Amino acid sequence: MGRMDLEVVALEVPSMLAGLIVQTTLLEKIKSLQPADSNLQKVRLDIEGECSGDFTIDTDGMLRYRNRWCVPENKEVRKLILQEAHRSPYSVHPGETKMYQDLKMHYWWLGMKADIGRYVAQCLVCQQVKAECRFSEGKLQSLPVPVWKWEDISMDFVVRLPCSMGGHDAIWVVVDRLTKLVSDVGERAVLDPDVLREAEEKVRLARQRLLTAQSRQKSYADKCRRDLEFAVGDPVFLKVSPMRDVKRFGVREKLSPRYIGPYEVLEQIGAVAYRLALPPKLAKVHNVFHVSNLRKNVET
Ligand SMILES: [Zn+2]
Repeated sequence: MGRMDLEVVALEVPSMLAGLIVQTTLLEKIKSLQPADSNLQKVRLDIEGECSGDFTIDTDGMLRYRNRWCVPENKEVRKLILQEAHRSPYSVHPGETKMYQDLKMHYWWLGMKADIGRYVAQCLVCQQVKAECRFSEGKLQSLPVPVWKWEDISMDFVVRLPCSMGGHDAIWVVVDRLTKLVSDVGERAVLDPDVLREAEEKVRLARQRLLTAQSRQKSYADKCRRDLEFAVGDPVFLKVSPMRDVKRFGVREKLSPRYIGPYEVLEQIGAVAYRLALPPKLAKVHNVFHVSNLRKNVET
């Protein structure tokens, strides 16, 4: 970080010679703006009244807090310091903790840590490139439990079997979601009251067990998930997970950004899906995405 205080300036001279001067521009700026900050000025007066605490004044007039330079309340200077520590050629977009550790060795101002957190959260490159190390978004949405058997079925085919005597080589499997019955063949007449009562009792038991199983599954699944909601019109990033030799959403290379966008949310579909306004180049992509594929765009 020591390099941050220096700036190399090339001087344009008419002859073949070029001159370089090294200016400690940032430090000079901090020092010159310190008197304009009323809080720092108050501290300076306290020091003169021998009530200094952790503050000291250098021989050249620079105010320090525990040997760190006191940065005055000036947007431009603070932005320059944050910019140099985060996105200059000497830095590689550090996270907020690393950046704070780097900066606190030399600089101090009230609310510095919060300012660093805000700056990193708003960095467009970090938002598009860095992976999120948090629980995935969108709580588990359990399906409604059917009221009666054979209301909700799933089906599958087992194919390429050896030919039977009747010339068949496949099996069609139909499963009822409530009772897990595999076939409706052999269902008894429902006009018999005893049979009807027995069926009702079985369905009630099956529903109760299905609800219990769903509740348990949801509580386990939601331990590693968190809620995230967007409003219509919010700008969001879309996860693309680029892989080698796989071209999705126009992104190819492995080191491409993990997120593209931002795109505007057009509408919410159900509890955990959103329709996005994709650009014309992605017109072939279905524009509804689960919330776990979206990331909030923190705007500056
Ligand atoms: Zn960044």
